[in-house]
Amino acid sequence: RASRTFHDYPSLSKLALLCTVSGGGLLTFSDARPFHGAYADAIHTNQKKKRVVVLGTGWAGTSFLKNLKDSSYEVQVVSPRNYFAFTPLLPSVTNGTVEARSVVEPIRSIVRKKPFDVQLREAECLKIDAVNKKVYCRSTQDTNLGGEVEFTVDYDYLVIAMGARSNTFNTPGVEENCHFLKEVEDAQRIRRTIIDCFERATLPAISEEERKRILHFVVVGGGPTGVEFAAELHDFVIDDLAKLYPTVKDHVKITLLEAADHILNMFDKRITAFAEEKFQRDGIDLKTGSMVVKVTDKAISTKERATGENRSIPYGMIVWSTGIGTRPVIMDFMKQIGQTNRRVLATDEWLRVEGHDGIYALGDCATINQRKIMEDIMAIFSKADKNQSGTLTLADFNDVIKDICERYPQVEIYLKKKQLKNFVDILKNYQGNDQKEIIDIELFKAALSEVDAQMKSLPATAQVAAQQGAYLANCFNRMEECEKNPEGPLRFRGSGHHRFRPFRYKHLGQFAPLGGEQTAAQLPGDWVSIGQSTQWLWYSVYASKQVSWRTRALVVSDWGRRFIFGRDSSRI
Ligand code: FAD
Repeated sequence: RASRTFHDYPSLSKLALLCTVSGGGLLTFSDARPFHGAYADAIHTNQKKKRVVVLGTGWAGTSFLKNLKDSSYEVQVVSPRNYFAFTPLLPSVTNGTVEARSVVEPIRSIVRKKPFDVQLREAECLKIDAVNKKVYCRSTQDTNLGGEVEFTVDYDYLVIAMGARSNTFNTPGVEENCHFLKEVEDAQRIRRTIIDCFERATLPAISEEERKRILHFVVVGGGPTGVEFAAELHDFVIDDLAKLYPTVKDHVKITLLEAADHILNMFDKRITAFAEEKFQRDGIDLKTGSMVVKVTDKAISTKERATGENRSIPYGMIVWSTGIGTRPVIMDFMKQIGQTNRRVLATDEWLRVEGHDGIYALGDCATINQRKIMEDIMAIFSKADKNQSGTLTLADFNDVIKDICERYPQVEIYLKKKQLKNFVDILKNYQGNDQKEIIDIELFKAALSEVDAQMKSLPATAQVAAQQGAYLANCFNRMEECEKNPEGPLRFRGSGHHRFRPFRYKHLGQFAPLGGEQTAAQLPGDWVSIGQSTQWLWYSVYASKQVSWRTRALVVSDWGRRFIFGRDSSRI
């Protein structure tokens, strides 16, 4: 975009360059300026505007930026990537079904038409100082921006959307020897390594045993990402590589290791069974109940849960996909604010970091604190029980439940899922008494623990992150309006209403692509669909969810190219 602007407006571009050379001045062309920490430190912020700092340009951060419309903010974005990546298509990037550049969109393009000033700093946040409302940053090391540049950014509101990192569970050798599939660069590296393995296997001086080792691809983790990658790799081998490397095709083996008893545990049992059968038919060696204990440069060691047997499996490439862990900077911040012994940042139902009014956390790096919600619910009951009798009438009880459902959508979702109208039904289930008109709060507490055990935190998905980003932006857009006319539920600590309604997650379903143009989908209402028609649904949903028309066109044309010409196996 920057180059087109320069081309179209040569005189403006010269002026911009002039400003750059003279160290800034009247015009601000943030795209044309070199980025230096000393300069960034000295940026004059408009003190009348509230300074919003967004950390991260993933699903949550980008959705927040896209939906923020109020011009009364001044926004600074800090992220080591100057683009947004459409992560659900990363498995397709690992084999060239889709090209890397088709799934990314520059953040500067996304925020170009915003009615407020947005400054992007391609840097990583090193530390959050909640006391002085400051974040410490360092320019990204793997770019050519001129080495490390450190600077600080002040904020009035901080939006933490830094996602998570791959979790190795501290398994020895994983960090050094395995590929992860988290970033675009990971997917590109995997693509090159697959081709490398095939090229090496065809070299003349390689023994049969070594050839087998090199062409043994191991995927660790039977979640949606691991399963999709294994399926994509299988398609790549069958559709393209087997034809290009006919002499070694019979040596290729794909193994999927999963510590639990089944793959795709978060899906309906029908999907799990279909996926396991399909993998068996395809010749993918699925080993469940197999825990990885160590990885060396040539072998992966596992311990079988059922037999306790230890195995050493030679491999050519491993892709490690066993879930997510906490980023060090988030861990450090959690320590600072007393949220130790947690995996991610705890927020309230307005996505505010607990106890910190101007700090919000969303996406994979945060979760709404379930335990706190249960404590709050109990406090609501105590408040409703005005004469502290330990009981409520059925009418009062139902009023309280209505309040709770308004305030805590998870409770309502749980009740709906269980097809229970309200907590009274749970109590009836619990105590087997249909007639009770007076509710014993102690009994209710016991029933509540049943609910607590079954109300899960939100999953770490793009869907949740994007909805949270949009929700928070919407709150920011209506900050002043809702200050005057609060729309949230009654405060039970203090008086009046909360400014905003709490965040409400709307589950739109989940896909599991299984290769060979077969996809499984679990849609709202636990509706399950599997097969080729679901694959077409997957194509249309993922095309429609693209962040821009440019990436939409690129992704669709990549799919078309793959149908006509197959995948490209050049190692570039
Ligand atoms: P991310 O999208 O990971 O973004 C984090 C951002 O923070 C990035 O821009 C990163 O560069 C930045 N950052 C990192 N460190 C710092 C730092 N120190 N300072 C500043 N910025 C920092 N979900 C689905 O719902 N459906 C799917 O089909 C699906 N498929 C997936 C496939 C793959 C291969 C992967 C890896 C994930 C998939 N997910 C899917 C999960 C989904 O991608 C995540 O849940 C989602 O990305 C979370 O969004 P986020 O904004 O919290 O984090």
